[in-house]
Parts: sequence; structure tokens; C-alpha cells
Amino acid sequence: MSEKVILVVLDGLSYSVAHQCMGYLNGLIKADSATLYQLECELPSMSRPLYECILTGIPPVKSGIVNNEIVRLSHFDSIFSLARLAGKTTAAAAYYWVSELYNRAPFVATRDRFTHDELLTIQHGCFYQIDSYPDDHLLLDAEYLRSQFNPDFLLIHPMNIDDTGHKFGFDSPQYRNAARHADIILSNYIPTWIEQGYQILVTSDHGMNNDRSHGGTLPEECLVPLFVIGSKFAHQPCDIQQTDICGTVCRLLGIDPLDKPVCDALLQGDA
Ligand SMILES: [Zn+2]
Repeated sequence: MSEKVILVVLDGLSYSVAHQCMGYLNGLIKADSATLYQLECELPSMSRPLYECILTGIPPVKSGIVNNEIVRLSHFDSIFSLARLAGKTTAAAAYYWVSELYNRAPFVATRDRFTHDELLTIQHGCFYQIDSYPDDHLLLDAEYLRSQFNPDFLLIHPMNIDDTGHKFGFDSPQYRNAARHADIILSNYIPTWIEQGYQILVTSDHGMNNDRSHGGTLPEECLVPLFVIGSKFAHQPCDIQQTDICGTVCRLLGIDPLDKPVCDALLQGDA
């Protein structure tokens, strides 16, 4: 069974909008090919702190990445570093803050925009710096990384849903349509990923509020989706925390999660 994992983090996507607007992903659920869970994100409900949370299993108040302006490398093992330790290949098509957390900080676009270095934590990367970088271009970047470098772990991190939420707010047609658009883009790739045996997780760092921001404890900014697709998932009801994602992905990759929490109930018994 394949141990390759694709983690899609759709930045700024609220649970309710994922549940109501993403017809392709919900169609996979109807066809018994996916399961949707609701996660409550850690606090503050902000991007850089929660990239760190998702990728290391450490909540912001413990990681020290407590706001978006903290520009430094992570102090903790991540899915990337643990995968590298096990001799696996890592890649990311993501916002530049991910490069700053795990490869090099601060980001130097002329050096880091396209990264290929076997010795780095994220060995292969396409990193973008503008929030309006089109999601469909980002998915093409990801597919380039996947097809050219065959990574064991691939992070895909589009930003347009969050960007649209900051412009129009949570309860807006534009925000909902950005989610619908991401769902359509994903529908062009997920069938191939399933066919090739990837274990796929689609989640978000945080949601969005009607003040066109996020950071606090409102349900619309804290409740986020987790869709799981693949034969190594149990596809049964369970209670999963955002801090469990890192260790659980390690388990899917067949590597030691060390002291990271794992949501065993999310996985098949033999995963
Ligand atoms: Zn945001």
C-alpha cells in the first residue's frame, strides 16, 4: 500500500462553507470515498501560528509562533523534518511563510521562490508571496513538484479563499464562490491522486469572520474542515484535534511520529 501523503491546506476556509459549497469533495463522501470531520483550530486563529500547529502538532502558545509577524525557523520537528530523517522526499507548493518556518528565514525570493536542494527540510518547493496568487496556478506548481520529484510528502497551500474573505467577509457570495472555485480546481487532480494511491487530507488553518478578518474564537473563524481520502483512513466518526494532524500524517507516511499526538481512530488498524 502506498505511503505517500498529500496535505492540502486551503487557507481561511470555514467548516460550514466547506460543507455547503464544495460539491466535488462532498460527492466523494456520498460515494464512500471520503469522510469529512470538523476541527476546532488552535488559537489565535491566524495563519503562520497554525501552519506551525498543523505541521508540527504544537499549538501557537507553546511553539512561540503566536502571530503572523514572527519571522524565524520553527524550533520543533515537523512533518517535513521527520520525513527527511526517515529518508523520505519532501515538497511544498505554499505561501512563503512555510519556507520561512522550515527552510530559511527571512525569505529571499530570488533564492527561495523555486527551491531544489536535497539537504533542505523542504527539498522541493514553489513558494509564492502574494495572497492573490491564483489557486489554479498554485495547483499547477504542486502538480509539477509531484510529477517531477515524486515526493513522499507534498504540502499544497492555496490562499485565494482567505484573500477573498479579507476583501468581502465570511457571509459573502465572493467568499463562498472562492471555496466553490477551489473545489472545482481540486476535482481536476484528486481523481489521479486517488488512482495513484495517495492518502489525501484537505483541511484549513482557520476560518473567517464578518469583519473580514480572523484571530479569535467565533465559530466561523475557528471551525475548519478535514476531508480525508484514501484506503488507510478508517472513515469512521472520531474526535480529531488540529494538533493531531502532524503525528497522524507521520503514521500515514510510515515514519515515527516521536512524541507528536496521533489520532489513531482516524486510521485503519493496520495503518
Ligand atoms: Zn487571513
